[in-house]
Amino acid sequence: TVRRLRPYGATIFAEMTALATRYDAVNLGQGFPDTDGPPAMLDAARAAIADGLNQYAPGIGMPGLRAAVAEDRRARYELETDPDTEVLITVGATEGIAGAVLGLVEPGDEVVLIEPYYDSYSAVISLAGGVRRTVPLVPRGGGFGLDHDGLRAAVSDATRMLIVNTPHNPTGTVFDAADRAVIAEVAGKHDVLVLSDEVYEHLVYDDAAGPHVPLCAVDGLGDRTLTVSSAAKTFNVTGWKTGWVCGPAELVAAARAAKQFLSYVGGTPFQPAVELALRTEQEWIHRNRAELQTKRDFLSDALRTAGFGVHDCAGTYFLLADPRPLGYDDGARLCRAMPEQVGVAAVPMAPFTDDPGPWRHLVRFAFCKRDEVLAEGARRLSGLR
Ligand code: PMP
Ligand code: GLN
Repeated sequence: TVRRLRPYGATIFAEMTALATRYDAVNLGQGFPDTDGPPAMLDAARAAIADGLNQYAPGIGMPGLRAAVAEDRRARYELETDPDTEVLITVGATEGIAGAVLGLVEPGDEVVLIEPYYDSYSAVISLAGGVRRTVPLVPRGGGFGLDHDGLRAAVSDATRMLIVNTPHNPTGTVFDAADRAVIAEVAGKHDVLVLSDEVYEHLVYDDAAGPHVPLCAVDGLGDRTLTVSSAAKTFNVTGWKTGWVCGPAELVAAARAAKQFLSYVGGTPFQPAVELALRTEQEWIHRNRAELQTKRDFLSDALRTAGFGVHDCAGTYFLLADPRPLGYDDGARLCRAMPEQVGVAAVPMAPFTDDPGPWRHLVRFAFCKRDEVLAEGARRLSGLR
């Protein structure tokens, strides 16, 4: 393996899922739902295959899906998006992130990440030869928040790109208006591109927080922001690997330039199915969010009952738990032991950080699972005491 990739090894998600399988554990580690998306969408993918949509799609994605993405952005956020130049269909958000970084970051350019960060960001920055700098989230209320002065200090004229993820995996943090304003301030001041990972855009809980606001809708960010999202989280199809990147034509073209040599194109029959879902399954999205909010509350209560401290989670389908009250101060060790000892898998924080220090005790649990699975997980976790 080349030096650039050596620090990364197998992803923590694959490792923990393998342990879960080996010990027949309840898998609350890797984030994937255990129920399917809208039935009409699944039928549409089957129909697409039966109808012969089995050859290469256009490089930028099928026109119908690009149009549906643009229309969804208008309906939801009042954003105007040209489906022919400002939307790129990608092989999941992962390829959108990779395309954006490989297409826009020169060797030696600095890229600023908010820590903890989704693991693919750091790996693809390494592949691009970029230099990463991190700004840790800080405790805010019962959860975490953006460190405004930390961000101001980390971003400089050497920064090419800032990668932001809200709602945030793994902490469940949702950035607020003040956070967005600081991002716009520093990006404008230092002429920085923003890559905004909004794959959990639909999973924001507690009406008080209000709906998701895309970063590109903030004054000063529209011209410098690429937004990624994915059918994986929106419609419970992590295995379809169908996502999209939206933003100014010039930036989308750069992501496309890299994308065409990463995968060339994504899977064809999924695209009309996701198009249909974007156009007709808004109710499903609402119901899914409401169900996930209930699951979040169930798992938070169960973890507290089992003896964990639990951080507030405003979005995504993950929450962070603190096992120190149970006598464990190393989340990675606990995660490697739990599948065998109590039959539950979770994910530690180290792979999401450069400086695990403030995070090393924490454990991430996914709650995108059927109620009976969560209940069995809760029952088993009570055995940790
Ligand atoms: N970004 C974040 C924050 C994620 O949690 C994930 C994984 N689910 C991805 C990107 C990757 O999304 P996809 O599966 O669509 O590639
Ligand atoms: N995004 C999901 C998670 O954070 C799955 C990631 C993966 O398996 N690469 O758990």
